[in-house]
Amino acid sequence: IVRIRGLKKSFGTHTVLNGIDFDVAPSQVVVVIGPSGSGKSTFLRCCNGLEQPESGILDICGHRLFDQGRMLEERALNALRTEVGMVFQSFNLFPHLSVLENVTLGPRKLRGATKAQAADAAMALLEKVGLAHKAQAMPASLSGGQKQRVAIARALAMRPRVMLFDEPTSALDPELVGEVLQVMKMLASDGMTMVVVTHEMGFAKEVADVVVVMDGGAIVEAGPPQTIFSTPTQARTRAFLQAVL
Ligand code: ATP
Ligand code: MG
Repeated sequence: IVRIRGLKKSFGTHTVLNGIDFDVAPSQVVVVIGPSGSGKSTFLRCCNGLEQPESGILDICGHRLFDQGRMLEERALNALRTEVGMVFQSFNLFPHLSVLENVTLGPRKLRGATKAQAADAAMALLEKVGLAHKAQAMPASLSGGQKQRVAIARALAMRPRVMLFDEPTSALDPELVGEVLQVMKMLASDGMTMVVVTHEMGFAKEVADVVVVMDGGAIVEAGPPQTIFSTPTQARTRAFLQAVL
């Protein structure tokens, strides 16, 4: 469902992604780890067209998002973004809209859903993330963990085929991390295809099919979590794991 070959991206003279090859199969959960500045966020942002690479090929959800210098045109890009859900560290909810309105906005504007259809679907998703009772609440009245669960429900409301998560629990107080990881685990067991940048090694061990280690804009190692965590072959992987575990 994702196929990337030789992806490169620079900011000015600074090469941030230096030839990434990367595949994700349907229903796979890929966890991306690596030191700060290694290019993890830039990589995810390339996957939904928020950043334009310089070279390489990027196929996602049946679209050729990028091919040797050419980006998908704007219309197709917008369509693609409805199929690729993204959840950020900072929840980015619309502060002036209620929880329910946050979740129904996308389907109503971009999917042509009626108000009633969108509300029914949104309530089912809020139920799923344990927040049906907060449907009428405003984001400011929610905890960080609740906000992030609404952000996940909002992304799911577009019925994405792939979900990208960029450090979804990094801005949360430690006691709120678990409730968000729980929702992500549920999604994984429902068969959602997911690419997750996280420092939560427990989540990686438990949920990932593949762990990808990035350093200096390259993938230094990739494999099943048992292998990466117990017998990493690369010195840079060992150094990173030593620093975080
Ligand atoms: P972190 O773990 O801190 O989130 P990261 O692995 O996500 O790090 P990126 O945010 O992808 O790393 O950044 C990789 C490099 O690209 C960094 O050196 C960063 O300073 C640089 N960079 C990222 N975005 C931009 C930008 N818009 N303009 C210039 N440089 C950028
Ligand atoms: Mg980042």
